[in-house]
Amino acid sequence: MRTERERFVVIGGVAAGMSAASRAKRNKPEMEVTVLERGKFVSYGSCGLPYFVSDLVKDVQGLVVYDATFFKEKRGIDVLTRHEVTRIDTQRKLVFARNLEKSKEITFGYDKLAICTGASPIQPELPGADLRNVFVIRTAEDGIILKDFIGEAAPSMAVIIGAGLIGLEMAEALRARGLEVAVIKRPGSSILKMFDDDMAELVEEELKRNDVDVVKNAVIQGFEGDSEGRARLVVIEGRSYPADLILLAAGSRPNSALAKQAELGVAPNGTIVVDERMQTSNRDIFAAGDCVGQKHLITGKDVYIPRGTTANKQGRVAGDNASGRDDVFKGVVGTAVSKIFDLTVARAGLSSAEAVGENYNFVTSTVAHPSHGHTYPNPEPEDITIKLVMDRRTGKLLGAQMVGKIGVAKRIDVFATALQGGMTVEEISRLDLSYSPPFAPFWDSILVAANVGLRKLLS
Ligand SMILES: Cc1cc2nc3c(=O)[nH]c(=O)nc-3n(C[C@H](O)[C@H](O)[C@H](O)COP(=O)(O)OP(=O)(O)OC[C@H]3O[C@@H](n4cnc5c(N)ncnc54)[C@H](O)[C@@H]3O)c2cc1C
Repeated sequence: MRTERERFVVIGGVAAGMSAASRAKRNKPEMEVTVLERGKFVSYGSCGLPYFVSDLVKDVQGLVVYDATFFKEKRGIDVLTRHEVTRIDTQRKLVFARNLEKSKEITFGYDKLAICTGASPIQPELPGADLRNVFVIRTAEDGIILKDFIGEAAPSMAVIIGAGLIGLEMAEALRARGLEVAVIKRPGSSILKMFDDDMAELVEEELKRNDVDVVKNAVIQGFEGDSEGRARLVVIEGRSYPADLILLAAGSRPNSALAKQAELGVAPNGTIVVDERMQTSNRDIFAAGDCVGQKHLITGKDVYIPRGTTANKQGRVAGDNASGRDDVFKGVVGTAVSKIFDLTVARAGLSSAEAVGENYNFVTSTVAHPSHGHTYPNPEPEDITIKLVMDRRTGKLLGAQMVGKIGVAKRIDVFATALQGGMTVEEISRLDLSYSPPFAPFWDSILVAANVGLRKLLS
């Protein structure tokens, strides 16, 4: 029956979806807010999945921020898990969902709708990709399936297809579980293609130090299974790798099928087209998170850099605008950080390859400088390696990459801030950064990198 209260329906209940729902309810408590999520869990950090699989996080509940009961009781938001939306009728403003537990169809009317359906792992169409022990890692359910398999089948050899941040975080997780691990990278670039090759090499050395076999330039032909439907071999031109656990970590693609069905604008790369207000081509429908793209604040171009932190911010903007406020999401500078064994790797802005692709006249400089003051006793003084990509014409920073053991994660945020503020390398070299021996040398590695970069720019 038609209710008089304004209705906001959100499809997808993780980072973007729960941010949108919570924000709208906070702004407009009288609004009826309903979240439809096809999985069993909502409001959890997929980013913690590697630590759940490694068993650092024992229980999947350790990844969950709040559950459906909390949202109902404390925030007044109806969260329906195991409800998959199958269709949107934009004329009648209806959403059709299937209750997956009861195989029942339910219809929800909306005044405002947010599509926060995220992304799905890319599943290469390879022979044997449907074998039983071929896994993906995206949702909490994926994490449970993989962890249960490790516990029950006690696999000893894992092959990870893909050498991006998730693939490498998972390499660490599987090594922690005692498996032998090979990481397979397709031809065309080094591991971690968002980093320059010389920086990625530092990570590759760390992988080798931790007995991870890195196989580059590999064209996978398929997976061979046994009579029980279990994969046993990864077949690469002329070679094969034994595996009793295969993890596909070759990137993700936006879930935009519902948007296409509803005839909303969808870009050629599959992202749902939104403006700065996260509004789709239909004024009552918003979209946010891994199902949409972003504007790159350095190049001004549309990009697809799916991140949990971005999904939360975009969801909040969608929720604001769906509940009558006026908010915008300006864009990203591609900031990322990850722990890979004992190293922290981080980046913001453009890599050299990206700067080439954007036709910048640029110069790079690399320094290695200690993470803290020499007067502070530290059993293992560690250098941070910093590479800057700089615009020769304007003197502005275009990008920064860092690899080190201590103090990398927060230092990259200084560069991210500088990039977002459009600072020149000279301006960065004059920043008033904090100093105390336990945390930094007199000349912080950021300032040293900027000074060295400046000399390179002026030479
Ligand atoms: C292993 C791993 C590590 C990561 N580490 C980091 C990190 O360190 N830092 C970082 O910033 N990001 C990280 N990410 C990325 C981050 O998790 C995502 O960017 C974030 O989860 C995106 O949130 P989202 O809400 O847009 O989409 P999702 O998390 O994909 O959530 C979308 C939800 O929509 C639901 N859904 C889809 N279609 C329907 C439908 N038709 N009906 C109902 N429900 C539907 C899905 O079930 C899903 O639960 C990591 C991701 C993974 C997998």
